[in-house]
Parts: sequence; C-alpha cells; structure tokens
Amino acid sequence: MYERPRPLHDDESSEPKGSNGELIGSQAAKPPLLPTPDVLADLAEQSVRFEAATPEEILGWAIERFGDKFTMATAFGPEGMTILEMLSKISPKTWVFNLDTGYQFAETLALRDRVADLYGIEVELLKPELTVSEYEKLHGGPLYVINPNQCCGDRKLTVLKKAACGMHAWASAIRRDQSPDRALAPIVGWDKKFHLVKVSPLANWTKKQVWDRILDRKIPYNPLHDEGFPSIGCKPCTKAVGFGEDERAGRWSGTAKTECGLHTQE
Ligand code: SF4
Repeated sequence: MYERPRPLHDDESSEPKGSNGELIGSQAAKPPLLPTPDVLADLAEQSVRFEAATPEEILGWAIERFGDKFTMATAFGPEGMTILEMLSKISPKTWVFNLDTGYQFAETLALRDRVADLYGIEVELLKPELTVSEYEKLHGGPLYVINPNQCCGDRKLTVLKKAACGMHAWASAIRRDQSPDRALAPIVGWDKKFHLVKVSPLANWTKKQVWDRILDRKIPYNPLHDEGFPSIGCKPCTKAVGFGEDERAGRWSGTAKTECGLHTQE
C-alpha cells in the first residue's frame, strides 16, 4: 500500500477552501494541483480521447500521470470489483479505500478480504469519527430515517474529503447509464466537490459489459446481487428490487433521495 502524501499546512493557493478554511483535495498535495484553464482543457481533451479507449488504458494513463496521488474509492459493487481486477494487473499498490459507514452489509465487507487474497490489494476501510452507537446516541436514533442526507454527509462525504486531502485524482466506478445524475459524467474531469481530478474508466460501459467481464474473468462479486439487489449501499437504505425495476430503485427506496452525494456536484 502506498504511503499517503502528507497534506500541506501552508496556504499555497487562492482556491476555495473547506468549510473551516482548510486546504482540500489537491490543494493540500505537494505539489498542489489546481484547476487552471490549461489543466481543465487538458482533462477535457483527454476525456474525449478516452471515449474510444479501454478502461485499462484509462487507468494506465491515470497511474502514470498521478502516481501515488491517484486513489480509488470502492463500495465493492460490480463495477468496482471490475476495476479492482484491472488495477491488480496494472498497479496493485494504488491506494484503494472503502467508506465504511458502519452500516454496510456483512457480505460487502467480506469482499475486502477476497480482494486482498485474490488480487493483493488491501482495501483500507475508512471510518467516520463516531461509531454507529455514538452517532445514533448523539442524534437520538438513526439519522438515516429522518435525515439521510446528513447521515451520508457525515458518514461518507466527510470521510472522503479527509481521504482526498493531499491526493491529485480519484477513480470512481460510475457508469453513465446508472442514473440521470451520472448520465453526463466525463471519463476524466474536474471534481469541484472534492477538489480532485475524477477518473471514471467505466463511464461509457453498460451493465452487460461489466457483468460479461465479471463472468469471463471469474471476478468475485457480492452474493446479494443474486438475491435481487442490483445496487448495494448501506443495509438500512438498500432494498431488493422487483423484475424490470431500475437498478438503483432499491437505494433510499420510498424517498426522493437517489444519490449519496459522492457523484453529484451540488
Ligand atoms: S446510505 Fe443510509 S446509512 Fe449509509 S450513510 Fe447514507 S443515509 Fe446513512
């Protein structure tokens, strides 16, 4: 596992800061990476070029360009598992982490060890500051019932922001055809929320392409997918879906919420 770069403490940029005025994402890297017009134009150009590239070529570019300042977040979904298999061949030492909210399924967490055994990638489980019982005590019960946006904010986004500090780029496993929020995702672009380059090597893949790869390469996957859970997040906010339903219909089912906020730009 790569050592994480140590964040800077000097104010080296005039970019926007975190809520407490601290440097965020690639501002805190040494050297920092800032979204100058040249950087943004280059990313846009690469992204168009990568529409015809394989995910392995895209990952290879990211690893060569960002080195140990390239990381990946995974929830061990089918797309994430597919990228982990690719990474095991290209760069098994890339730092990969999981946002371990404390509410994940045991079946999800079991994949962490499968990945370590099979691919030699030790996915780091990053936890929020408060345990589930401390958090629920603080809020008088589980917040996912009455305020899932704050719960995702506290237990996912805040943890990712901390992980992003000092990095230049992160890989996500989103596909454009998963949801309207993801439909316009570039393959390579600037992620304003986390102040990082965001690389989505499977952005233009379909669900079928992902599952063909999983079956072809015998990539392990979450057994809950065979029990009617096409998309798996935290246990309290994930339900099985019926035949023909949207693949993300089981996430925060019965509410207007469709995303945890990691892949939206608001
Ligand atoms: S998915 Fe549900 S339990 Fe998990 S962090 Fe979001 S609101 Fe909380």
